[in-house]
Amino acid sequence: MEKKPTILMNRYELGRMLGQGTFAKVYHGRNLASSQSVAIKVIDKEKVLRVGMIDQIKREISVMRLVRHPNVVQLHEVMASKSKIYFAMEYVRGGELFTRVARGRLKEDSARRYFHQLIGAVDFCHSRGVYHRDLKPENLLVDEHGNLKVSDFGLSALKECQKQDGLLHTTCGTPAYVAPEIINKKGYDGAKADIWSCGVILFVLLAGYLPFHDANLMEMYRRISRGDVKYPQWFSSDLRRFMSKLLDPNPNTRITIEKLVEHPWFKKGYKPAVMLAQPHGSN
Ligand code: ATP
Repeated sequence: MEKKPTILMNRYELGRMLGQGTFAKVYHGRNLASSQSVAIKVIDKEKVLRVGMIDQIKREISVMRLVRHPNVVQLHEVMASKSKIYFAMEYVRGGELFTRVARGRLKEDSARRYFHQLIGAVDFCHSRGVYHRDLKPENLLVDEHGNLKVSDFGLSALKECQKQDGLLHTTCGTPAYVAPEIINKKGYDGAKADIWSCGVILFVLLAGYLPFHDANLMEMYRRISRGDVKYPQWFSSDLRRFMSKLLDPNPNTRITIEKLVEHPWFKKGYKPAVMLAQPHGSN
């Protein structure tokens, strides 16, 4: 006998599972009224309450509502039942950028195009006072047209979270992608830390491996803190110069978005659709 489809809130039909994170499962869904495909993130309320993550979920919702951009996964609506929270989101058909890199490193033009879109999205988030804090290829989805969509704002922070010193203090992110100033626990500027992660992502796309990998976590942190990176021989000198500005261990001298979009490697060849959101610092 055919299994009856699961209907959610009389609005969505729940389909196959697309992926699983630590606290959520993501399913394909179909809007019953419009037949539009959606991704439905299902979060277990009890689990979230048990680990005290309710504020984090609330923040993820506010942030996703704030960042409406073509290269950011869009949140359609949030629903709740007695035991679950549901996010109905834009469905991104092509999977994670991570899977593409796992098949082999990308050519410069292809990586540059993804990087343009990543920087466009990150710049927009920053202009809205949102720092992602967990940028990595696993959180970058690719749609059917090959366009990148930033997802998973579960660890993001809002500008207003900054302490009196104007810095963020929560240590978070994924070790291999995390900026030296986060490791060093002295407080950090969320925008500068995101730029570092973008640098690591660009390296991974073009090299096919991580720039600061070490089986020993402490050694990996030491290498990150020193910005100790060896470039593969196929990296052009232009690219090396660009990478070293992104992976500058000193956040005060690390390149900013306004400067990086002017760099010859960024500007080369492909004409980006990158438009800086608005002058930085003014919201
Ligand atoms: P984590 O534990 O890494 O923070 P999470 O619980 O927040 O994860 P997500 O990373 O948001 O969950 O989603 C888990 C997986 O589901 C993703 O890696 C991706 O493969 C898939 N996924 C998430 N959102 C979408 C979407 N909008 N469209 C298609 N697939 C998606």
